[in-house]
Amino acid sequence: MKYRSTRGAMAPLSFSDILLEGLAPDGGLALPESLPTVDAATLESWRGLGYADLATEILSLFIDDIPKADLARLTRAAYGPAVFPGEQMVPLKPLEKGVSLLGLSEGPTLAFKDMAMQFLGQVFEYVLAKRGATLNILGATSGDTGSAAEYALRGKRGVSVFMLSPHGRMSEFQRAQMYSLQDANIHNIALKGVFDECQDIVKALAGDLEFKSSYHLGAVNSINWARIAAQIVYYFWGWLRATSAPGQQVSFAVPSGNFGNILAGHIARQMGLPVRRLVLATNENNVLEEFFRTGIYRPRSAAQTHATSSPSMDISRASNFERFVFDLLDQDAAQVSACWRQLEQKGEFDLSHLLPLFESRYGFVAGVSSHQDRLDTIKAVYDKAGLLIDPHTADAVKVAAPYVEEGIPMLVLETALPAKFGETIQEAIGRPAPVPEHLRELAALPQRVHVMDCKADLVREYIKQHAPA
Ligand SMILES: *Cc1c(COP(=O)(O)O)cnc(C)c1O
Repeated sequence: MKYRSTRGAMAPLSFSDILLEGLAPDGGLALPESLPTVDAATLESWRGLGYADLATEILSLFIDDIPKADLARLTRAAYGPAVFPGEQMVPLKPLEKGVSLLGLSEGPTLAFKDMAMQFLGQVFEYVLAKRGATLNILGATSGDTGSAAEYALRGKRGVSVFMLSPHGRMSEFQRAQMYSLQDANIHNIALKGVFDECQDIVKALAGDLEFKSSYHLGAVNSINWARIAAQIVYYFWGWLRATSAPGQQVSFAVPSGNFGNILAGHIARQMGLPVRRLVLATNENNVLEEFFRTGIYRPRSAAQTHATSSPSMDISRASNFERFVFDLLDQDAAQVSACWRQLEQKGEFDLSHLLPLFESRYGFVAGVSSHQDRLDTIKAVYDKAGLLIDPHTADAVKVAAPYVEEGIPMLVLETALPAKFGETIQEAIGRPAPVPEHLRELAALPQRVHVMDCKADLVREYIKQHAPA
């Protein structure tokens, strides 16, 4: 299988080639030249598989330059008991009639990003070893992505991680989680600034092409296709657990920010998975909800982005959205390029003439959830089902409610555990969320972090001194 770009001007590349790249050279995003399909008989034959083996089957449809036996080794390492110690890796937890949570947060950092990042860590190490190459991952995080990347890449050969975070602006739990890592290949750099400034330094250094190539800088951001591919697996897993007969439909509700998670659901549906609706939930930062309601895509500036109590969804420019627009525009790269040109010139583009297709052809509906909705939903779910959910998951439970239908299971993707967001849980139910046993000691562990002024040159110097020769 070869990959092409949404802007149409990239020579076909293999999976391993696009794995180590960010944006395609033409500014677009990589996608398979054609999507594999899965028929009902094949789906039924997967019912007995464990998660890692299901991942091997699905990922092998997208990866033909890694032998399947090797892929099976990588998925078993990514999705084994050492990483997911709980009784079930991806549990289905009933909430109320017709609604269940799909538990994607049983990994080391208690958020769904582990699901993709753990596979990415394995496949990076494998491909780098094969090519005799090394990679220095440079990233910026406000919390979830950085820790998921560090836990997936710690101790991996050929990869070092330089992760910038805003000094003093993450939760105590998030700081302890990242900064307590003692692995030699993990470098935490806390900058005296805000997240956007960290992100600007990443962009500045990645844009310094000479520095980038001599120090083999790479990224693990959410546009990485391998992350999307790994996320497709749990949509199949959820369907297999929630149904018992071929062709039975389910709906999914997804707390959304960068459009990475729900894009994987869209692709699963295009591959033939019987999905009725994809319910997209946003918080007050409702750029995506606005698009699905009006057909107009109008990203906002950092200054117009609200800081909310579901902070991992505080995103106003959805970096994976272009892959969905590519399908909406019948995979016409020229039209996609025109949209993004218009975005640069006018700050928006208008696809309202396609509005009728969003739901009828692609199953998409969307809704907004507010801070008060999160509090009310967390409390209601706790009172009724005895389950504590995190604020992001609560956004999706709230937005899903009007779309619950008789006979069609609604699976709400649980994108984080409540322990990560104790303050909001406290506000909702009057006491904090319990912290899992194995993480209670985290706050007492020694921390390893370099604090520095928010200057690109200082970061560049630090990388030069600490990147492996
Ligand atoms: C990253 C994240 C999201 C948003 O996912 P996207 O793929 O960016 O749409 C939602 N909830 C949590 C907890 C996250 O960490």
